[in-house]
Amino acid sequence: MNKHICIICGYIYDGNLPFSELPPDYACPICGVAKNKFEVVSHEHKEPFLKINYGLYVITSSSGGKDNGCVIDALMQLTDNPPVVAFSINKVNKTHEMLVESKKFCISVLTEDAPRELFRVFSAKSGKDIEKFEEFPETERGPNGLLYIRKYSNARLSGTIFDMIDAGTHTLFRGEVTDSEIFNNKDTLTYSAYRKDVKYRQMFCFQCQQTAKGTGCAMIGVCGKKPETAYAQDILTCEMINLAAAMRATAKGGETAGAAAGVSTDKASGVSTDGASGVSTDGASGVSTDGASADTWYGAVDLIVDGLFTTITNVNFDNEKINALTGEIKAKRARYGGGEVIYQEELFRGDENLVSLRSTLLFGLRGMAAYAHHARILGKRDSEVDAWFIKGMSELGTVHTIGEWLELLMEFGGVNLKCMALLDGANTAAFGDPVPARVALKVEKGPFIVVTGHDLHDLKMLLEQTDGKGVDVYTHGEMLPAHGYPELKKHPQLMGNFGTAWQNQQSEFKDIPAPVLFTTNCLMPPGKSYGDKAYTTSVVGYPGMKHIAAGADGRKDFSALIEHAMQLGGFPEDRQFTGVNGGESVTVGYGRKTVLDSAPDIIGAVKAGAIRHFFLVGGCDGAQPGRGYYTDFVKQAPKDTVILTLACGRYRFNDLDIGAIGPFPRILDMGQCNDAYGAIQVAVALAEAFGCGVNDLPLTLVLSWYEQKAVCILLTLLSLGIKNIYIGPSIPAFFSEAVLNALVEKFDLRPITTAEQDLATILG
Ligand code: SF4
Repeated sequence: MNKHICIICGYIYDGNLPFSELPPDYACPICGVAKNKFEVVSHEHKEPFLKINYGLYVITSSSGGKDNGCVIDALMQLTDNPPVVAFSINKVNKTHEMLVESKKFCISVLTEDAPRELFRVFSAKSGKDIEKFEEFPETERGPNGLLYIRKYSNARLSGTIFDMIDAGTHTLFRGEVTDSEIFNNKDTLTYSAYRKDVKYRQMFCFQCQQTAKGTGCAMIGVCGKKPETAYAQDILTCEMINLAAAMRATAKGGETAGAAAGVSTDKASGVSTDGASGVSTDGASGVSTDGASADTWYGAVDLIVDGLFTTITNVNFDNEKINALTGEIKAKRARYGGGEVIYQEELFRGDENLVSLRSTLLFGLRGMAAYAHHARILGKRDSEVDAWFIKGMSELGTVHTIGEWLELLMEFGGVNLKCMALLDGANTAAFGDPVPARVALKVEKGPFIVVTGHDLHDLKMLLEQTDGKGVDVYTHGEMLPAHGYPELKKHPQLMGNFGTAWQNQQSEFKDIPAPVLFTTNCLMPPGKSYGDKAYTTSVVGYPGMKHIAAGADGRKDFSALIEHAMQLGGFPEDRQFTGVNGGESVTVGYGRKTVLDSAPDIIGAVKAGAIRHFFLVGGCDGAQPGRGYYTDFVKQAPKDTVILTLACGRYRFNDLDIGAIGPFPRILDMGQCNDAYGAIQVAVALAEAFGCGVNDLPLTLVLSWYEQKAVCILLTLLSLGIKNIYIGPSIPAFFSEAVLNALVEKFDLRPITTAEQDLATILG
């Protein structure tokens, strides 16, 4: 018989592969415990046995100066007078050994808010292997000297064992309760409630467009995120909220935005610069901390920004790094003296509308953090943006009405516009204003490196280090707009673009004869043929992948990557690749300045009737069906319309030749997602030129979303009062029905339908 049952949650493995041949790291797909927590379904009554309901308890004991405990379900009150209980424990348990030796026990009666972490420590692990109370320190010591778990219990029963009955694999203990205490009136956690609710204990994530069943990833992330990683990210998020709340409550010595030393405002650009702390170095977490300002208010802000960036979809799958960052943030909170204002199990639970609004703000903040991080790396920061990270994160730990949450979201949208402006200024100051450039999709023979993600500073450092080395550099996915920046283009080894959008990386990188550098998202779990060629840097992480950290001066040493490229040697002959529609090149570089410099011609073309309408067709690309809409939309858009585009959604159509209107190609690629700022500037300038509001322009936004940067951009657009935005390929799962209805009513937010229908509606 191949059936095996998870003794924690009751999941039955009945797969074709014999259980013994499952890999050693096989984990229960429901509750995540290890393979050794499965038992053979040895008799026909095993499954009916699961129908018996029990309470769940942690029983603790101690001997030889050590404490231990485990979760039990087999506990009953035998008599009321004297107060005697009976419980059964497997003889292999360390706790069993201690109970036999000490004859003392303490029972914590668990409540329904007991977190998954408690079960991970007290159920899935053995006291023979770990110090359980070091891994789960939230305990107190009772009157008989034993530890118990007050925080997740409604009562404690302490006592002494007076009888032990051999029950084969188990021992049945009888003990008298000598002391007890009630903590609260919460319901006792039952085995059936635990099993029903285990998906929430396991993981819950609904932050991106590809979330499972359009509602939430509950067993494992569609992105490849494992429950342990989701849990680590939740804990990190809670710790960031706790830190922000502590910082907001305690303005130590005037340590607030704008008051810390080293920050000056660049009035011309409206951007703040922090020369002293604009460099990030990798701390214990392998994520950036700022050596210069690590113990200042700004150092704490930077930790929160990097923590938020770390939790964006497809950024970091490395639990050790996430936990190390959590540790840094926890230590930082100690400096501010704050307590815990939110717990992991509360993060995505509660009234569905309030969870929806709180999650929307959290995901928006995650998106904005990516932009703030990139700007900081280039030496730019803005005190208002920094302060809002603290405000926004601390608000996540407080109670608000729906109206208050909506106000916060609109306020956040305005701040995110500032953050995008900050990054726009940082990029153009460092790399020049983008100019139109034709980008080949051909890879020339010889050694090369592929760079993906959004971090232009990393690319710049790599280009400087590959100058004259005979190693070419190709962009992939999010990095495509780099070809428009003069300071990057001037390196002749920046050759072209390899492949298409992020979701195709597993097939495009298969057997690639070159290393790949992931500077930010979107990182997918790598295939075997290229996992050892993949490098991460900055906040990106994946277990086992090589990570290139910054030195104390912020510089990264890419010599191992360059050496690796030389060893792999690249393709023996030139290889012509194509875009998704068969095109052999794409055009980029129609940034804000290029478009605005041509404003008189554009306005003239509109007035002359040569341009009837503008569509901004942009946003993220993704793997899920339905995104063909955007290709269809661009193909079917009439010839007197212009397509502005930005971000990875462009890959659906950027290799199409759909002609030109006068000197302008009909597809104008404005850059990456943060260049939505540039698109807004263009829209505002056109509205001024035509003497109307942005909503009155012949302009429609047709957006595709995937991850959290799209969330912050959407909130910015809404905060500007921009209406009639078409959004797809699906509505965010974290918008409750009521929240979606409110947005539709106020902003005429529209889910996409079909290209034909939407074009007909827009153009009339
Ligand atoms: Fe699921 Fe997206 Fe969360 Fe990954 S990031 S677990 S795919 S909702």
